[in-house]
Amino acid sequence: MHWYPVFWNLRGRSVLVVGGGKVAARKVRALLRSGASVCVAAERLGAELRDDLEAGRIAHVAGRYAGDVLRGRHLAIAATDDPETNRRVAVDARAAGVPVNVVDDPQHCDFILPAIVDRSPLLVAISSGGQAPMLARHVKTWIEARLPYSLSSAAELMGGLRERVKARFSTLPARRTCWERVLGGPELTLIDAHRVRDAWHELEQDAEAAPPPVALVGAGPGDPQLLTLRALQLIQGCDVVLYDALVSAPIMELVRPEAERVFVGKRAGGVHTPQHEIQRQMIDYARQGLRLVRLKGGDPMVFGRGGEEAEALARAGIAFEVVPGISAANGCAAYAGIPLTHRELAHTVVITSGYAHPDGSEHDWGALAKRQHTLVFYMPLHELDLICTQLTAYGLPPDWPAALVAEGTQTGQQVLLGTLSTLPRLAEQREIPAPALLMVGKTTALAERLHWYGTPPVIARPQRERREAVYALL
Ligand code: SAH
Repeated sequence: MHWYPVFWNLRGRSVLVVGGGKVAARKVRALLRSGASVCVAAERLGAELRDDLEAGRIAHVAGRYAGDVLRGRHLAIAATDDPETNRRVAVDARAAGVPVNVVDDPQHCDFILPAIVDRSPLLVAISSGGQAPMLARHVKTWIEARLPYSLSSAAELMGGLRERVKARFSTLPARRTCWERVLGGPELTLIDAHRVRDAWHELEQDAEAAPPPVALVGAGPGDPQLLTLRALQLIQGCDVVLYDALVSAPIMELVRPEAERVFVGKRAGGVHTPQHEIQRQMIDYARQGLRLVRLKGGDPMVFGRGGEEAEALARAGIAFEVVPGISAANGCAAYAGIPLTHRELAHTVVITSGYAHPDGSEHDWGALAKRQHTLVFYMPLHELDLICTQLTAYGLPPDWPAALVAEGTQTGQQVLLGTLSTLPRLAEQREIPAPALLMVGKTTALAERLHWYGTPPVIARPQRERREAVYALL
């Protein structure tokens, strides 16, 4: 970030604008809206500024620019059509300790002026740091079309209610929950002063607002675009987030900056935070009335131990909600071009894990090794050889199609296509990183034709005949 964004209180403060033309007039208009006391230094004033002068809205210093007009100013803006004069203003302002903006010359600026979407007191400021003004204008138009004007009256009313909300709800999290209920949801077009007033009256009748429920949230397989709207809303409004190693860095960047981040995944050296410790922390945070998001890769209820955490919360009498995420099976299938079911090829999907079950029981290999199944193995890397051998031993042919998808939906996604006999070696040769998903079944061969994301799949040669056999079926 090259520029630090601030909103400056100019009410009653003296600001100098050097220049009398149209550009200067535009700057003066915005300054007057913010309540600044504006003085224009210019040999001649254009029509708009002349009107302002006659109406007593601005002061005017006539004649050629001289540095002493900067004395006592809070800000200065150089907006003449002469670059030399503008630069002199910049040099003089700096010497006088007055922050200066030179129109269309970011190099000589102490501050730059963003494009504004004005729903005062709500303001959206957009800047490209002087790099791409056209893009900033585009974004402004986009936001302008989407932000309803009713936000202005709603924001004003919320300002008026602040003290009463403070008096009514003693803790910060309770106040946040109150405002969330007043706003009612992410749909901005529904927010207006009426809604705020009605919701507030309702809340005022209530006893102390109930503490916010803990949210068990699925973050999806990595691509931040695959977050659900609810997940985004929760991570942008939470006080604390407990997150796993599988939650991708771009998703963590979307978390509310003020939120406390607690990593509870596998640390370097392979040490896990024990599950009971995670649950204890969740209960502690919830009891403090904080808005807690337990953020997990994929879906919380698919090999995510979300069920155990929900049970612990239920036992402790703490309310919770569960927000599903796109599980690795769905994410990898879609981004690798592997249909999970497909007419003629696969009518059953089995989701299972590559690990032995904690209770010591084995997979029912006979039940898995069926020709109409698409098998999806989570955490397959340690047992890849064993899985492929067992499936062959229980009846699938050695040249049965299989795929490994590593870092699915992320920028580094890799897809390996092979067979039960070739895939383990290929994975070893390519040093496939975790997280990776193993998919077994005829539809995996379609990835060669249907892949659309990232680098094309790497294919083990003997796959080819099998693939042709699969295509012949279609
Ligand atoms: N709850 C998660 C699964 C957690 S178990 C979900 O629903 O997806 C961890 C395993 O998930 C990994 O070992 C890997 O097999 C799989 N996985 C998670 N994210 C993945 C990704 N982006 N690409 C490939 N496999 C992934």
